[in-house]
Amino acid sequence: MTNDVAIIGGGIVGLATAHALIEQQPDRRITVLDKERHWGAHQTGHNSGVIHSGLYYPPGSAKARFARAGGEAMYRFCTDHGIPVRRTGKVVVATSIDQLPRLAELQRRGTANGVQVSELDQIGLREREPHVRGVRALLVPDAGITDFAAVSERLAELLAERGVDLRPATELLGVRRDGSDLVLLTDRGEVRTRRAVNCAGLHSDAVAELAGTTPPARVLPFRGEYYETTSFSRDLVNALVYPVPDPAFPFLGVHLTRMIDGSLHVGPNAVPALSREGYRWGSISPSHLQRLATDPGLRVLAKKYWRTGATEIARSALKPLFLRAARTLLPDLRGHHLLRAEAGVRAQAVTPDGTLVDDFLVVEDENWVHVLNAPSPAATASLLIGKDIAARLRSRD
Ligand SMILES: Cc1cc2nc3c(=O)[nH]c(=O)nc-3n(C[C@H](O)[C@H](O)[C@H](O)COP(=O)(O)OP(=O)(O)OC[C@H]3O[C@@H](n4cnc5c(N)ncnc54)[C@H](O)[C@@H]3O)c2cc1C
Repeated sequence: MTNDVAIIGGGIVGLATAHALIEQQPDRRITVLDKERHWGAHQTGHNSGVIHSGLYYPPGSAKARFARAGGEAMYRFCTDHGIPVRRTGKVVVATSIDQLPRLAELQRRGTANGVQVSELDQIGLREREPHVRGVRALLVPDAGITDFAAVSERLAELLAERGVDLRPATELLGVRRDGSDLVLLTDRGEVRTRRAVNCAGLHSDAVAELAGTTPPARVLPFRGEYYETTSFSRDLVNALVYPVPDPAFPFLGVHLTRMIDGSLHVGPNAVPALSREGYRWGSISPSHLQRLATDPGLRVLAKKYWRTGATEIARSALKPLFLRAARTLLPDLRGHHLLRAEAGVRAQAVTPDGTLVDDFLVVEDENWVHVLNAPSPAATASLLIGKDIAARLRSRD
């Protein structure tokens, strides 16, 4: 049997794409395959769980367009399906006077993106977050928290109910053409399909290559490490507390996140991972190391960011340095409050000239849609990204 669409990757973006496709056309034959035994095993199951509001992104970017509306769609989905979700609001905190111009720029961006955002003085900040220190802050009431792994599990259940062929523990290993069809070669046999969507996250560039496409950017995995606080110290923070981000870097900085289960997470930092799924320093892939050493774009990147990179690596290795960074926001935090928690690895695309791709990146050809950069806020925006991919496929029918 030939499928209409096969989706490689059962993270939140792949599952949301299948969901949008089956909603659009219920009789479509769709397969979703993932190399892992359960859905959302990589980025989707290892993140902060924050529903972003669209504050940070350049007006007009896909991130800006999809984050705000995608966040609202995510709140609705969670509410409709009984998935725990809370619109907690968040504060972005300037800890020194020299950060105020960047805070003001964030407020301008947020307003341009249609995000509700207001200023808090020190008293206002203390009322919301009594233990957080800052000279001024922005309050974004529409940010919130959920569990994206639970969202993915629910999406998979809905897909199964609608007759979608779900194949966990099935890895794509190669692709062959047969007339106008694609034959996907997996470790569990062949899957025949007219179209395919690459939502393979940390492996999306490798999957594009299997499909015969030269990706315009390669994935550079950045590990994000977290500490969890002891249960006695979790009440130091009420909701979500972010620093003012460094505009030269696509990550948001170590933040304080009251997760949906009430735990308080501190992190994530951003250190280069030594393999695509390098959840620990000890997880090393020789082929990935060789790529790091020889890829010209990565060399440019290393030159540009060596100072930030060195600081992040030092903070990763030495807990007191991580603690010191977190204490600029939360002075009452102590070393004995912090316990190492599970890390996540971000799939960050880098172009051959060493530019970190800031926006979502999607590339299409006759048979394929390749999602080559879907970093944060892609979990927030996943339901809209899925609809966008479904619309792209529809326009080719
Ligand atoms: C530390 C961290 C914090 C984050 N915080 C947030 C946040 O608070 N809010 C937010 O909105 N976003 C956040 N993000 C980003 C968000 O998690 C990702 O944007 C989103 O999960 C991407 O989903 P995905 O489906 O594209 O990728 P993934 O979830 O990584 O899914 C890709 C899937 O493809 C499968 N796959 C790969 N290769 C193959 C193959 N050859 N054959 C079969 N299957 C394959 C993998 O097994 C995997 O399940 C964070 C990310 C990280 C890492």
